[in-house]
Amino acid sequence: MKLYNSATRTKEEFVPNHPDIVKMYTCGPTVYHYAHIGNLRSYIMEDVLEKYLRYAGYNVKRVMNITDVGHLSSDADTGEDKMLKGAKREHKTVMEIAKFYTDAFFSDCAKLDIKTPDVVEPATNCIDEYIRIISKLMDTGYAYFAGGNVYFDTSKLEKYDVFNDFDAEDLDVGVREGVEEDTNKRSKNDFVLWFTKSKFEDQALKWDSPWGVGYPGWHIECSGISMKHLGEDLDIHCGGIDNAFPHHTNEIAQSESYLGHKWCNFWVHVHHLNTTSGKMSKSKGEFLTVSLLEEKGYDPLAYRFFCLQSHYRKSLVFSWENLDNAETAYEKLIARVAALKPGEGEVDEAAMAQLKARFTDALDNDLNTSLAVTALYDALKAKTNDATKLAAVADFDRVLSLSLVEKAAELREKNAGPAEEEHDERIEGLLAERAAAKKAKNYAEADRIRDMLAAEGVTIIDTPQGAKWKRN
Ligand code: AMP
Ligand code: ZN
Repeated sequence: MKLYNSATRTKEEFVPNHPDIVKMYTCGPTVYHYAHIGNLRSYIMEDVLEKYLRYAGYNVKRVMNITDVGHLSSDADTGEDKMLKGAKREHKTVMEIAKFYTDAFFSDCAKLDIKTPDVVEPATNCIDEYIRIISKLMDTGYAYFAGGNVYFDTSKLEKYDVFNDFDAEDLDVGVREGVEEDTNKRSKNDFVLWFTKSKFEDQALKWDSPWGVGYPGWHIECSGISMKHLGEDLDIHCGGIDNAFPHHTNEIAQSESYLGHKWCNFWVHVHHLNTTSGKMSKSKGEFLTVSLLEEKGYDPLAYRFFCLQSHYRKSLVFSWENLDNAETAYEKLIARVAALKPGEGEVDEAAMAQLKARFTDALDNDLNTSLAVTALYDALKAKTNDATKLAAVADFDRVLSLSLVEKAAELREKNAGPAEEEHDERIEGLLAERAAAKKAKNYAEADRIRDMLAAEGVTIIDTPQGAKWKRN
């Protein structure tokens, strides 16, 4: 499989460090608010990557953090802790906010069929890890103490800015929310590893540390959690493109200075979902959530389908019209799968191998999901029997997760029931006879009719509006 590596700015052949496992780390949500569908675009595409690696036969261990402390309003270490802001907004404690929005996040993920990573770790669980890493960085001269905080000293590095081919706009972090300059920093890129009470006195969560009572910076969380669960090396680190700088840049700086060697091989960044008026962001107030899509009558999986139709390294513009088009296409796709006859013929293994090859060629080329969706359409129109087509759909859906087989079965059932009920005069007649028998308290006759129809594979359903029937 070829995968674009942001750190080398090339598509590289993916080879894991260890033959028996792929170690994958994902930056998780900051749980001070609902995830917006932009955040979820990143998680959908990362989910496809994980599932495709598993499909390709790799054993994957995936770890994700939950940021419940230390992520300040600006990524450049200024402003209020986002969690504290959320708590104040809703008159709750930080931990109540964290629990509520963590649950909401996983509920959204379930609706989008995003698999929960093998390990999900809240940042507040790993304070000892951060203290251990920061202590060594202090001992080895990579960190310094100033004005009550511990900072990473970026001047100690030969190369700091590893992802420097991004647009200025993507790198434009922090400046969004009125950044005030931090005069404790020796140079502008230095970043906080540990805050103490000297900053943000109303910070809710604080821990003892060698540098005073305080709390960790956001960046150290991901290094600490990754090393705790995945050890000293990592195959793939994912996140949205806004995380490349400064978050991932800082993760690399501190992790490699701590370890003394290279840390992560592949950096995979999902580009943004934008609205027609610009980037979608939680701090802008009004934002689109999965619940809102549902309220408007959309199936969340239609949004997943919308995301799959474009490449993860291109920004994607969301509009209701675009979503409508995706939903229509998704419904048609389900209808085409529903039209296939299950159990008709045997799977043609040679044809199946050809269909699979198209699908894997697409995903092997830097996870080209739109071509993978085309491979799915190709399977539906291939010159082969329905059993093979259905097998291909089920197989591809292990990665695409569009619930195609299940939804097609539901649709078949929905179409089967009432339509045949209206048209089968004999069954209707028998239902009328049964109703008359029941009215006359002739239950033996009513049961006989029920059993006779059951033997034909027809089930009677008694409803307040009278008896209905369906084929089993
Ligand atoms: P956050 O909860 O803000 O820490 O972000 C969670 C994830 O969503 C991170 O990987 C971000 O890079 C990503 N993200 C943020 N905004 C967008 C967007 N508009 N489109 C796609 N991904 C995004
Ligand atoms: Zn992270």
